[in-house]
Amino acid sequence: MTVGCWRALVLVLLYLAQPQARAEPLNLAPGDQSRPLTGHLAFLPDPIGQRGFEEVRRLPESAFVPLPGDLSAGYVDGAIWLRFVLIRDPGAPETWWLHLGPRFIDHFDLFAPDPSTPATYLHHSLDLARPWTEPHDPAHAGLIPLRLPEGSPQIFYLRIANATALQARLELWQPQAFIHWLRLESLWQGGYLITALIIVLMNLFHWYNLRDPVFAAYAGYVASFALFMLQRDGILLLVVQPGTPLPLKLFQLATQVVLVWFAYRIFATLVKPERFWPRLASGWGWINRVAVGGGAILVAVGAFKVAVLTLWAWLLVMIAINLTLAGLIVARWRDRSALYFLLIFAVLNLGAVATLLANFGVLQGGSFLVDYGLIVGTLLHWVLIQMLLADIFNRAKREHERARDLALEAARHSEAELERQVAEKTRAISALGQRHETLLMAVGEGIFGVDTQGRITFINPAALNTLGYNWDEVLGQHPHALFHAHHRDGRPYPFADCPLSRTLEDGRGRHQEEWFFRRDGSLLPVAMTCAPLFEGTQLTGAVVAFSDISEQKVREVELLELANTDMLTGVATRRFFYQRLQEEIRRLRREGQREARSALLLIDLDHFKQVNDRHGHGAGDEVLRNFARLARQALRQGDLLGRVGGEEFAALLAAEDAAGALRVAERLRRAVQKSPFITQAGPIPLTVSIGITDLLDRDQAPEGPLERADGALYAAKRKGRNRVCVYDLLAN
Ligand code: GH3
Ligand code: MG
Ligand code: MG
Repeated sequence: MTVGCWRALVLVLLYLAQPQARAEPLNLAPGDQSRPLTGHLAFLPDPIGQRGFEEVRRLPESAFVPLPGDLSAGYVDGAIWLRFVLIRDPGAPETWWLHLGPRFIDHFDLFAPDPSTPATYLHHSLDLARPWTEPHDPAHAGLIPLRLPEGSPQIFYLRIANATALQARLELWQPQAFIHWLRLESLWQGGYLITALIIVLMNLFHWYNLRDPVFAAYAGYVASFALFMLQRDGILLLVVQPGTPLPLKLFQLATQVVLVWFAYRIFATLVKPERFWPRLASGWGWINRVAVGGGAILVAVGAFKVAVLTLWAWLLVMIAINLTLAGLIVARWRDRSALYFLLIFAVLNLGAVATLLANFGVLQGGSFLVDYGLIVGTLLHWVLIQMLLADIFNRAKREHERARDLALEAARHSEAELERQVAEKTRAISALGQRHETLLMAVGEGIFGVDTQGRITFINPAALNTLGYNWDEVLGQHPHALFHAHHRDGRPYPFADCPLSRTLEDGRGRHQEEWFFRRDGSLLPVAMTCAPLFEGTQLTGAVVAFSDISEQKVREVELLELANTDMLTGVATRRFFYQRLQEEIRRLRREGQREARSALLLIDLDHFKQVNDRHGHGAGDEVLRNFARLARQALRQGDLLGRVGGEEFAALLAAEDAAGALRVAERLRRAVQKSPFITQAGPIPLTVSIGITDLLDRDQAPEGPLERADGALYAAKRKGRNRVCVYDLLAN
């Protein structure tokens, strides 16, 4: 591929050197089958393309420069002339085919001496600049039949017009030999294309299967390379040749753009320069993107010729840089991939150089090197790249397998380790489970667990014993319905209010005193603790622990009674009385006029001091006790009697107004007056004064009614004692 441009350069150098040697005539000997015109050609540039045949014919022989090798021109817009001399030796065949080398494609005119009329020329015109896609005709093969008279030298002129770049080998063939060669050539071309096709398909297949972009890059490289090779000279000519259809031009230019891109990609994917110079590699990638993009833009705007030249030039520069980079990598890191890349492209370039050298007659390998050096290099480098890919793939596969084996080994190892850990954990858990079970069985507290629905999932013997149930009766049951459905006083206890329900709802623990019902219906005061059960963050139920607090409750009641009962008289203490009075006031305020109001009595023993003084304190106590008994008898069941001072009592008469209370008070007063109290010190007569008041709606605290009753009591005392006074609302 590099050949074209280098050749153009060399040609120019050769042309500048202007060797003085003459181009030798070619002798055609009997038995010759094919003779290349290499070394027998003389060259005359005609850049403007205006020289006519007659003018050229009259020019002296010295105007032509001998061409040492094959015809190989750089970028010439115009025409060139070639001159050669043929001498048919005696016995040599008369008819020869002039063939313009295998990839020579252009328009040319051959001026051949007319054998029948001396000194006149026949004009053969061939337009070979036809796309390879069109069917071949004999003329397209670049063949012109020549008939040569025996002996005398025949001078031929060839004009090649409007050439951009050309590479041509001119040969003379015996028809049979040519046909034989053409068959071979077709075989080569066909084999070459089929090989390319197989490689492309195979790599697309690999890419599809393995998803490795290196295969796509390679398929693209080979496809564009093959298409490009097929028309490599054609591209240069066709894009400037008038009459070439635009789609074909575009297709051919696209092929070139794609080739340039893949020529970079194949370097990037094979050598992977980013392993060594990440920033340089990325920069190189971008430069190539810009170059290819620029080429594509040139094509798109129709600057075909500039595009062709730029892309060609860039391809050469890029290949040179790729090879340099690969060489540096090999030199510095002894990298295998880069070394392979160098070797592979050395093979390709060896083939190209062989073709080049043969073109210029330096290598005398005959037509094979010229025709096939590059093709063989191409095929070989494709095969080598394929082998390298296979190697890369195999290495990757081996690494993958090794990684898989390691992973399997690690997995087997960790599986065994996991099993061991699971067994250990299971043992630990079952030991823990046993310990928990033992604990559950042994503790004195009742413990049961419920699920999120509040149904019992387990219960310990202490709980069963305390409640009087057995296992079967409670398992799966709702504990609230079973033994917690009512309050102590018999009111229904909705589950929603139960601490267990609230714990199941908000997942928070609770501790409070509750009353359970035993199986036999008896009440069981308990201290109940509800604790939520979680698995992770998921609430899965709750555990309830409860302990029997009956004894504590009994003690509490005793203490309360002790606190509320006056030691001496057995009636309510002042504190308890006030408390009940307060409750009554609240009840009245709540229920208002609908309820019968209560009355408050304040009772004071008259001249009690004298009792003490006369009969002693013990007798005084006895009197107090006796009075309390008497007063209790005078009152009804629901009334409350309290000792609110030393010898001062109070009574709360439920559902009794002042008038009713007056009757009760009078009865009591009379009873006291009637019979003296019997004491160890003898009978002691006594009287009492009593003040009465209704409890009123407006009363808020005990102080109000107590003050009113005290006022009435004071009035009774003032009026001479031993009497009952009702607090007069109107008078005060
Ligand atoms: P009045 O008719 O004005 O009520 O005269 P009184 O003597 O009853 O009035 P006062 O309040 O002056 O006297 C009350 C007496 O009650 C004084 C106190 O010695 C006596 N006392 C208070 N508590 C007790 C008690 O627990 N036992 C005995 N034996 N006497 C008590
Ligand atoms: Mg008193
Ligand atoms: Mg008194």
